[in-house]
Formats: sequence, structure tokens, C-alpha cells
Amino acid sequence: MPESPIPAYIDTRKVFLQQDEINGSVALEKLPRFKDALASQQGHVSVALSFSVNESGQKVIQGKLFAEVAVTCQRCLEPLAIQLRDDIYLAVLEEEAEVAKLDPELDPWLCAEHKLVLAELVEEQLMLCMPIVNYHENQACLEKLDYVHSQNEADTAQSGMATENPFSVLKALKE
Ligand SMILES: [Zn+2]
Repeated sequence: MPESPIPAYIDTRKVFLQQDEINGSVALEKLPRFKDALASQQGHVSVALSFSVNESGQKVIQGKLFAEVAVTCQRCLEPLAIQLRDDIYLAVLEEEAEVAKLDPELDPWLCAEHKLVLAELVEEQLMLCMPIVNYHENQACLEKLDYVHSQNEADTAQSGMATENPFSVLKALKE
């Protein structure tokens, strides 16, 4: 089922009182910092967010994010398809001083205006759950690379053939 994009922003005066729920995709173009960390401009990010007010009167955003993207393997420098999953559990605060009163299990999200830009929030969560280093599983990729190099030395005309499209890998993962 194709997902529709989430709205660009929410009105913090409304969504918490209405206990809104938002599900959908976020285009990588809306996530420039995250996009810069990727090996490919293709990929998919989706989120499910629900808004409520807890007993302490805090505006809580709870949800999940899921992303399928390609990053660079630090061992062979070829693209590597990864999946990111994370839980979101935030309280929206208008001032930094409110952080002290926050329930310890909630992470603060500062937003002084009524307009909260959802892509900024999603991007921050994605950056937090992004692995610091990414490697293909086991060392097979290096062995493959050695193989590719020796092949290329033997036949330089074939060099372009060695690059595997990361999205054929993603597709294979999905199936
Ligand atoms: Zn690798």
C-alpha cells in the first residue's frame, strides 16, 4: 500500500488536545542532513506518530520510525543497504527551563512556536539511531573487492560491472 507523505508541520495547540495520529512517509529531500550521510539518494523513511497530553500535563509525541536506506560500507566503500528502526518518545517543551521538570523517560523536543516542523524532528531521530560505522556482514565484501580488483586488472573494460545496485539488495530484503 503506498504511503502518503506526512504533513510538513503540526500546530502544537491542536494535535495534543485532539490526540491526533499521523502516519506516512518522509521524502529524503526533506531530510538534508540525513540524506548527506547516505550513499544513495534513493531510500524510504516512514513514521507513525501519536500526540497526547500525559498526567503531568506534558505534550507527548510517541511513535516509531522505519527507514530503508543505503550507506557506505567503511570496509569496502561500496553501498550497503541498512534498515533503521527506532521508537520515538518525546515531550514538546516551549522553553529549555522546562527540561528539569520532564519525566526522565521522555526526551525533550524544544519548540517555542506553535508550528512544529515534523521533518526536523524525524531527521534528528534518524541521526540518533544511525550506526556510527557500517560494514557489510562478515568480511566477505573485502574478499569480493579483492576479487573485483584482480578482475579489473585483468579486464579494465569490465570495471563498471562490479558495482552492485544497493536497491537490488533492498528489494531482495523486502521479498
Ligand atoms: Zn563492504
